[in-house]
Amino acid sequence: ATPTSIMVATGRAAELGILFRKGDALQSLRGVRTVALDKTGTLTQGRPSLTDFVVADGFDEDELLRLLASAEARSEHPIAQAVVRAAAERGLELAPAQSFSADPGFGVSAVVAGRRVEVGADRLMQRLGVSVAPFAEEAARLADEGRTPLYAAVDGRLAGIVAVADTIKPSTPAALAALHGLGLTVVMVTGDNRRTAEAVARRLGIDAVEAEVLPGGKVEVVERLRRAGLVAFVGDGINDAPALAAADVGIAIGTGTDVAIESADVVLMSGALTGVATAFALSRATMRNIA
Ligand code: ADP
Ligand code: MG
Repeated sequence: ATPTSIMVATGRAAELGILFRKGDALQSLRGVRTVALDKTGTLTQGRPSLTDFVVADGFDEDELLRLLASAEARSEHPIAQAVVRAAAERGLELAPAQSFSADPGFGVSAVVAGRRVEVGADRLMQRLGVSVAPFAEEAARLADEGRTPLYAAVDGRLAGIVAVADTIKPSTPAALAALHGLGLTVVMVTGDNRRTAEAVARRLGIDAVEAEVLPGGKVEVVERLRRAGLVAFVGDGINDAPALAAADVGIAIGTGTDVAIESADVVLMSGALTGVATAFALSRATMRNIA
């Protein structure tokens, strides 16, 4: 590729809202076979809302939601915001939370109104020694609908489950169709529940799923995928920065976090995912003309 043709292509890309931070990304994209995408905030809007709430016998729905939201008020996770919003919509007043701790990929713990409150993934309950059996079937049903079930424990007793769901971005189906049209293999990478991730992937026609990936684990997934050829990773979050850097081409969503943007080779200025396919198409057109 000549410097001029690359300049022309990156200029054209910029007009389309695709920022090539590194010139050689246009060349690297040409050889990419696999596109791995983060789920939350990349394929989806990243603003989940609470959809379901099931309480165990002996627990009051509003009282449990108040405890959960009080604990989650200290977390910045989008799931936490969904729980806090749901409590606000019911007009529930939150209590201060003490001894708060958030464990990425697991959930949160806090003491609220003298009660120990824990909310998160089934692996959090496993670690606490709280059996999820009473709600496992219900959780599986919710996950099969693409919702994320979260278990709640109060004073070490299973108190109920809440489910949150995130909306697919309007641009996602068209973007995936375009990537498939270019012959690329599409992989979803997420910290979310396996069943939930698989349900979403099935709906979107995604080729493979890497689920229940711990925050540090996205890099390992990218490294593993790279054994089969060049990999592009698309993400938006702080958690995604190492994977964006490890990929042959890191593509950040411009509406995402600064850390992700700084770790990327390519930035999509709008949140629209169709820019990923456009970047590939521009790369192919440019490299074909001058190779
Ligand atoms: P992702 O970015 O894909 O959502 P995370 O690693 O942030 O992945 O979260 C993985 C899982 O950990 C969530 O699906 C949820 O089950 C649990 N989790 C993380 N943070 C929280 C939280 N604040 N409240 C409840 N559950 C949480
Ligand atoms: Mg994300």
